Amino acid sequence: MKVLVIGSGGREHALAWAISKSPLLSELVCAPGNAGMAEIARCVDLDAGDHAAVIAFCRNAAIDYVVIGPEMPLVAGLVDDLRRAGIEAFGPSAAAARLEGSKGFTKELCRRNDIPTARYQRFFDAESAAQYLREVGAPIVIKADGLAAGKGVTVAMTRDAAFAAVDEIFGGKFGAAGASLVIEEHLTGEEASFFALVDGRSILPLATAQDHKRVGDGDHGPNTGGMGAYSPAPVMTDALCRATMDEILRPTVRALAEAGTPYSGVLYAGLMITEDGPKLIEYNVRFGDPECQVLVMRLEDDILQLMLAASRRMLKKMSVHWREETALTVVMAANGYPGSYEKGSEIRGLEDAGADPDVMIFHAGTRRSDGRILADGGRVLNVTARGRSVAEAQTRAYSAVDKIDWPEGFCRRDIGWRAVARERAGGSP
Ligand code: AMP
Repeated sequence: MKVLVIGSGGREHALAWAISKSPLLSELVCAPGNAGMAEIARCVDLDAGDHAAVIAFCRNAAIDYVVIGPEMPLVAGLVDDLRRAGIEAFGPSAAAARLEGSKGFTKELCRRNDIPTARYQRFFDAESAAQYLREVGAPIVIKADGLAAGKGVTVAMTRDAAFAAVDEIFGGKFGAAGASLVIEEHLTGEEASFFALVDGRSILPLATAQDHKRVGDGDHGPNTGGMGAYSPAPVMTDALCRATMDEILRPTVRALAEAGTPYSGVLYAGLMITEDGPKLIEYNVRFGDPECQVLVMRLEDDILQLMLAASRRMLKKMSVHWREETALTVVMAANGYPGSYEKGSEIRGLEDAGADPDVMIFHAGTRRSDGRILADGGRVLNVTARGRSVAEAQTRAYSAVDKIDWPEGFCRRDIGWRAVARERAGGSP
């Protein structure tokens, strides 16, 4: 089977790496890919926003299956267009991808189906939003309705910060994604991510993970796309996983099927574990980045077979197996990220750093030039390791990081701190 993976981040390198191990695979193509993906696949220059070009490429190259990494093409209906052209693809239709593409849509679905989430109101103009803010006060959370590259959410600790967020959204900062907004109750607790495959009706729970969004140690500083992650999430007990399935994912998947817009693909629930149990913060309609990197390090089964089963409504027959180990990934980013940064610096020592069989270095913003690996983005590498404990995975990941010679890059030195502390308190190895 010829598979095309769309995307160029660490998530897509991880997906491509897992797919490359499938006995079902005959050829792997990535668009546009990165230097790491180029080692295991043929990389082609394709714009995922140009659906006609993607379809033409798939026909010419006889692609059998398309795996779409990022949310943007899913929300824009690439899966619908591919299917109409007779090309099989992994991921939801545009109608089902509204779970990520519109916060208002998801909140309304939660309200109608009694799915636990933060209380909210949706607004279409600044004056009514401001009036509501004057009533409810802070802390409060303001969210642009549409896709805003992870920047559309403000957790406002003061009323002034909340007013500013409303003005920013209705001022046009996020374009059409800011045509409406959601104001919701501020939840407290520990955050965790829950992943499942869905085939329209059946749900196959995958695994849990936790990530670090802030740029600096101790979870300080500005938000980023994610500076590290680990799986499983120790906070997610079996009982919490069951509650997440029963109270959040099942009613969501049922509601979408009943509306005639069944969900297919991977469903990623961002959760707040509150004193009243898990509450939905947001849905994502694709794997997380960097959470995907830690999931594939633990997966024992053929990912391609699992994805195909989701696309073909055959998940009911599938089971999934995970290594009883922790996987942990440390993101290395270019100095200055998430602000401005330079491209083009050389990265050395990758071979030595990745020599341990329990270590994988997934590339994000990299490119190859004259046999050298150069930084080509903000988040550049995902140094990922497995261990029998979180502490062991963490030690192994940082010992690989320390073999990488890249003065123009940095990473956090405390990825997994909360899980390591929990492990120490529990007396694990
Ligand atoms: P989202 O893009 O919806 O995941 O929001 C980004 C981040 O904002 C989340 O990972 C949380 O840390 C935080 N957040 C979102 N909604 C809430 C909420 N209702 N209460 C507290 N924090 C929130």
